[in-house]
Amino acid sequence: MSDVVLRTHGLVKRFGGFVATDNVSLNIERGARHALIGPNGAGKTTLVNLLTGTLPASEGRVELLGQDISSLSANQRVERGLVRTFQINQLFPTLTPLQSLAIAVASRHDAARRWWMPMGHDTAIAAEAEALLSQFRLQEHADRLTKELPYGKRRLLEIALAVALKPRVLLLDEPAAGVPAGERQEILATVAALPSDVSVLLIEHDMDLVFSFATRITVLVSGAVLTEGTPEAIANDPQVRAVYLGSTELAHG
Ligand code: ADP
Ligand code: MG
Repeated sequence: MSDVVLRTHGLVKRFGGFVATDNVSLNIERGARHALIGPNGAGKTTLVNLLTGTLPASEGRVELLGQDISSLSANQRVERGLVRTFQINQLFPTLTPLQSLAIAVASRHDAARRWWMPMGHDTAIAAEAEALLSQFRLQEHADRLTKELPYGKRRLLEIALAVALKPRVLLLDEPAAGVPAGERQEILATVAALPSDVSVLLIEHDMDLVFSFATRITVLVSGAVLTEGTPEAIANDPQVRAVYLGSTELAHG
């Protein structure tokens, strides 16, 4: 028996008469480094929005760790460990990365409804924020204002803030988009290095990054799953090749 942490059954999303998500059933296994690829407009971001509860599904359901979470709010899903990255425009521009991380760590403790603050609680939060800072290679920027960080470092901070919430499943929608080619690998390397109890679903259009990162790939076309398999199987799949044939950028969107 495989160990599935996130499962969807027949997810459908309609915008009026347009079907953006077409009967998607997807399994993310424990510890997965799973990539979701597909042409621009394939419905990748919409699917993430259905998983997180940002958008209500028209049909189908989502299970996290064996429990149906379809009716839970986005915040309730985060509390259960289904976390997507923050977007840059959600960062606090005039706080430092360390301050922002401390807030994220503290919010997780609050979510556990601790009315009693044990001795050393504050020190523990600071230590955890410092550890995240070094894990995401932000130490040298610890005391700069977030708005003054290089773009690639702000994207790393987005991921660090999501990891501060102790996700079981982490959803990353193009975390390296807009980052210069030479710095993208660093971003994906920090994600790949997360502990194996964090399962990752990554949307990425840079195929070099996808194939260096993923152990499993799902291909989405016109809202539906075209195929799913190992990187090797996907790279050699004639259907997948046909989808990308002649496109200058492999799967941007
Ligand atoms: P991808 O992330 O794969 O590029 P999206 O999920 O953003 O694709 O979009 C899939 C399709 O759904 C696109 O055709 C897009 O125009 C459409 N779409 C996305 N969000 C909405 C919305 N809120 N209302 C109407 N159509 C939408
Ligand atoms: Mg998208």
